Amino acid sequence: MAEAASTSRPRVLILGGGFAGVGAATKLADAPVDVVLVDTNDYHTFQPLLYQVATGLMETPAIAHPLRDLFHDQPNVHVRQATVSGIDRANRRVEFQDMDALSYDYLVIALGARVNFFGVDGADEHAHPLYTVEDAMRLKEHVLRRWEAADRDPALVEDGALNVVVVGGGPTGVESAGALAELYTSNLAKDYPDLPAADARITLVEAGPALLAMFKTDIQEYTARALEKRGVEVMLGESVSSIEPTRVTLSSGEVIPAHTLVWGAGLQANELASGVGVELQRGNRIAAAPDLSLPGDPHVFPVGDVAWITDTKTKKVLPQLGSVALQAGEHAGENIARLVQGKATEPFAYHDKGTMATIGRGAAVAQLKGGHTMKGKSAFLAWGAVHLALLSSGEDRAKALTDWTWAALTHERSARIVVRGTPAGRV
Ligand SMILES: Cc1cc2nc3c(=O)[nH]c(=O)nc-3n(C[C@H](O)[C@H](O)[C@H](O)COP(=O)(O)OP(=O)(O)OC[C@H]3O[C@@H](n4cnc5c(N)ncnc54)[C@H](O)[C@@H]3O)c2cc1C
Repeated sequence: MAEAASTSRPRVLILGGGFAGVGAATKLADAPVDVVLVDTNDYHTFQPLLYQVATGLMETPAIAHPLRDLFHDQPNVHVRQATVSGIDRANRRVEFQDMDALSYDYLVIALGARVNFFGVDGADEHAHPLYTVEDAMRLKEHVLRRWEAADRDPALVEDGALNVVVVGGGPTGVESAGALAELYTSNLAKDYPDLPAADARITLVEAGPALLAMFKTDIQEYTARALEKRGVEVMLGESVSSIEPTRVTLSSGEVIPAHTLVWGAGLQANELASGVGVELQRGNRIAAAPDLSLPGDPHVFPVGDVAWITDTKTKKVLPQLGSVALQAGEHAGENIARLVQGKATEPFAYHDKGTMATIGRGAAVAQLKGGHTMKGKSAFLAWGAVHLALLSSGEDRAKALTDWTWAALTHERSARIVVRGTPAGRV
């Protein structure tokens, strides 16, 4: 049986405590509603910096913030750690694996996205995606364990123990490849003086004709050059056809001996989107109306990566980005507050602050509104400022600033350790 919504105040049930879910809850602070925010984790994950955890630059707490802590000053928000198993719109209730069902007056679906391996043979078993804190820790541990194994048995170097293939030339692939290259040259080469670190290969494989497809040509060329300068081998017009524990086969037939494959190539909406009972868009995303409600159901708001959101100003479908998720979540929260007060909802317009990616220390690219581009140190500083602003608390910003400043001054990555008992790396 579902726990009934309060009879006095409407219940807003928010599924997912990512950028979109937290944004929605925050904007309901002054509304006469009870908010229940449910996430399978007890923390909010800052996905854009997962690669920094995976490469030992940042500690986990800097990118994973306790959800309950975010709402200490918002008494109408109740956080529950539970895993959603089904959405029953006909009865306005949501089911959970580990908690009684909850009914709702308004529902915010902010369950995010997950990796899409596009059916590549062996990817599910052997690839390392980078979507969760567990993914980042698993990748870090796996890489460090491969170096330790090669240090004990140098024959493993020839077998590809130190080699990494990164799939996907979008921001995730570019940032991961650049960060791994710096981890290798600045840290692991010194940690393992007996290993031929210079022979370790980091290969970035992109099926399209250029890296960072959404950027202008000068940015794409700068990115490829900056990666190559850091020792990354960039392969364009090439894709991965199968993955084994120690071998990666490309569509051209080339086989790369590599014990590590990082998957940054694609995503699809959370699998629960298919239970919402509407026709899904590309990537299984749920189409949102201009006010971000579900067309035909004004009590439901799909937002963030799980949603197919069209910008009312440009009429373009918005990309799956943290800034889009945060703004859309906030807008959904504001519209629910309007509805509760008997007012009409307003259409959503995205404020584009630009798209950015970092390649390494002092090297980043940015494409701002109006097509203006930045690269190098200025883009790196802009990237730092934008990401600090997106972090969920002042404490997280302070932690990130400390880690970045320390790394910039010393090239040190103090989090490059494996703690026994945490999820072991895949081999
Ligand atoms: C490696 C990487 C780098 C990125 N870099 C950038 C960047 O530089 N700039 C940028 O703007 N964007 C970036 N993004 C994209 C950005 O992180 C996402 O667009 C954003 O996180 C989407 O927010 P969301 O709230 O929709 O989903 P999420 O942040 O994914 O939140 C979804 C929440 O739902 C929870 N959840 C999922 N399933 C269940 C369930 N069954 N039950 C309960 N809870 C559940 C999850 O635990 C999670 O907390 C990056 C993404 C990745 C993966």
